Amino acid sequence: MDFDFTPSEQAFRREVRDWLQSHVPSDLTLGAFAFSRADREDVERLRAWQRTLWEGGWVGLNWPVKYGGRGAAILEQIIFYEELARAQAPPPINRGGLSMLGPTLMAHGTEAQIQRFLPKILTAEEIWCQGFSEPNAGSDLANLQCRAVRDGDEFVVSGQKVWTSLAHVADWGFFLVRTDPAAPRHKGITFLLVDMRSPGITVRPLRQMTGEAEFNEVFLDAVRVPVANVVGKVNEGWQVAMTTLAYERDLLTFIRNISLRMALDRLVTLAKKTERNGARAADDPVVRQGLVALLIEERCLQLNGYRSLTRLVRGEAPGPEGSTSKLSWSRVDQDLAELATEILGPLSQITDKAWAVDEGQWAYNCLLARASTIRAGTSEILKNILGERVLGLPQD
Ligand SMILES: Cc1cc2nc3c(=O)[nH]c(=O)nc-3n(C[C@H](O)[C@H](O)[C@H](O)COP(=O)(O)OP(=O)(O)OC[C@H]3O[C@@H](n4cnc5c(N)ncnc54)[C@H](O)[C@@H]3O)c2cc1C
Repeated sequence: MDFDFTPSEQAFRREVRDWLQSHVPSDLTLGAFAFSRADREDVERLRAWQRTLWEGGWVGLNWPVKYGGRGAAILEQIIFYEELARAQAPPPINRGGLSMLGPTLMAHGTEAQIQRFLPKILTAEEIWCQGFSEPNAGSDLANLQCRAVRDGDEFVVSGQKVWTSLAHVADWGFFLVRTDPAAPRHKGITFLLVDMRSPGITVRPLRQMTGEAEFNEVFLDAVRVPVANVVGKVNEGWQVAMTTLAYERDLLTFIRNISLRMALDRLVTLAKKTERNGARAADDPVVRQGLVALLIEERCLQLNGYRSLTRLVRGEAPGPEGSTSKLSWSRVDQDLAELATEILGPLSQITDKAWAVDEGQWAYNCLLARASTIRAGTSEILKNILGERVLGLPQD
């Protein structure tokens, strides 16, 4: 593998860097690595930021030109995210739309769906949420019970979803629903695009241990959804969902990894400026060892990410080995949060923005990181996937 960037990629990097230097709003940079998406005003600021990025031509870089993208190579997309991290700027808010639904629609959607939905994903005019999990269908997603019954040109959807990130601010959601309860579990499922303002939808925010409510319960009571909003074929939504999840674990993890690098840079700065027992934390051998271990792990993640990227650059779909990235990323993310807590000592318990170090971002990040080994597939499930589908171990 050639790790050097070509002259044109380097020129592209300079172009992004220059643009970001003059466009990143200063009030968005501090919270960039652990930005809350619970507060509606914060979400609106992030929506405006994605719009600015789009106007600059930086959103959907690797999407085809005919779908509103720039038709750039995936490597340029990665360079862009690296520069975004370097500038300490938050990524686009419409992550689910850009990294999961967009590629899914390009692979399985109708031309009408593509024309209708992709442009507003790019501008963040319509923010998307992912309605897959249910109270009895998380790891065992194929157990989902949310029912959709056909009535003429519409489906009537009833049931409950849970842990739906951003549902409280989302305009649309991509949902998995059961359309044939008699069929084998994986076969009677359909992938539906649902207008979150439809009558019959109730969204109830769930408070997390961070104190914020970024995800929600979503109740659907006889919600009418046009049949034209089915992605792929009726009863064949499982295959469509697998495309979505593969992108979630692969490209999205690469993007998360870039945020991790940004947090690591901040952690090194924190160690240099924090005094403990009359000496800098950065001079403590145990802290130094912890920092170096994280730097090594982060570098391994980056290289493994390049391996997945090579598949995508060759035009192949993301494979199950994307699960290795998600698995390692979540562990490093939690280790980083814990080291920050050790460096800060008792100060790490101060969460009030006015008094806390770095406005309480470390305490917030530490609590948020607990979710990293659960969302987008728990670590146990990822190990099952790796064991069975990558290493070929027997299922039992
Ligand atoms: C911050 C956050 C955001 C989320 N956002 C969304 C979202 O936007 N949309 C959405 O649809 N979902 C979302 N989720 C839900 C997430 O996908 C589920 O939490 C996850 O799939 C686990 O499902 P569960 O919570 O039902 O746990 P369960 O599946 O009940 O698992 C409980 C425990 O049992 C273990 N376990 C289960 N089955 C096995 C097995 N076969 N082998 C070994 N161990 C097993 C699990 O690893 C876990 O430790 C989010 C979750 C979090 C934490």
